Amino acid sequence: MGNYKVTIIMYHYVRDLKNSRYPSIKGLDLSLFIEQLNYLQKYYNVITIEQLIYSIESKAKLPLKSALLTFDDAYIDHFNTVFPILYNRKIQGSFYVPAKTILNHLVLDVNKIHFIIASVSDIATLIKKTFNELNKYRKEYQLKINEFYFEKLAIANRMDSKEIIFFKRLLQKELPESLRKKIIDKLFEEFVGIDEEAFSRELYMNKEQIMCMIQNGMHIGNHGFDHYWLNSLTEEKQREEIIKGNNFLKEMGVNMNNWTMSYPYGAYNKSLINILKEYNCKLGLATNVEIADISKNNRFELPRLDTNDIPKESKSEVNRWYAIG
Ligand SMILES: [Zn+2]
Repeated sequence: MGNYKVTIIMYHYVRDLKNSRYPSIKGLDLSLFIEQLNYLQKYYNVITIEQLIYSIESKAKLPLKSALLTFDDAYIDHFNTVFPILYNRKIQGSFYVPAKTILNHLVLDVNKIHFIIASVSDIATLIKKTFNELNKYRKEYQLKINEFYFEKLAIANRMDSKEIIFFKRLLQKELPESLRKKIIDKLFEEFVGIDEEAFSRELYMNKEQIMCMIQNGMHIGNHGFDHYWLNSLTEEKQREEIIKGNNFLKEMGVNMNNWTMSYPYGAYNKSLINILKEYNCKLGLATNVEIADISKNNRFELPRLDTNDIPKESKSEVNRWYAIG
């Protein structure tokens, strides 16, 4: 029995939200994480990434209803909250680390954006402030009018309102990088108001914690060095991101015969995949929402579900992803 399908699930923040400093951060509450694990252990076989790599390489079938748990961005939640629970249940998690955050004690722009949003009481105020910033830089950066950006970017998705999506897209991608940075830092200082290094040390795991997880059977993988949109870089820059990310993994003691990649924002392209092949990467995790099928998918383009796609109640009925997984 068995097949070639695996339900790969992606997690980000996992914390006891109501007792945390930012209860409105878009994260998975600890109690729901536990319920979801109960659900997964009831209906699925949680596999290790080594099992998945072995199946890909030898074309061996996977257990029926295989699931793989992945955690992006190296949050302290993954050490404090997730790791002890997985360890006690003898389940492996795969954790993807943007090395810069840990080596340089910086905060990723994408995380600054999350905590700015979690710190404002009303999103309209934030949009107004953002428009004011655009007004200030319009000439220097030859920006279009504010309404142009809002029309273009403000499209609600299954997770966020249109205002939140506008704010995220504008500052994650739309504006020139140097301007994005200026505006994000300004708003981070105004709304969050905590020193970046101190905030980084509170938000992410440190080297010792990562090494401890490896020594206890967890998998640590490459998530780029700077957490860039890798599909928007030159080949040379892509290579640099991969090498620097791998140097960090080596320093942590990762078995480089089985190194794996998770693409920041799910963004990759052909030239990146060629580089991964050259360095003998075993697999690449994307973010398109599908069940992975290793008899059909390219090993560098494995889709993942989000935690929100899976029930968070152990008593829940199975959903459509179970039926096709
Ligand atoms: Zn990420």
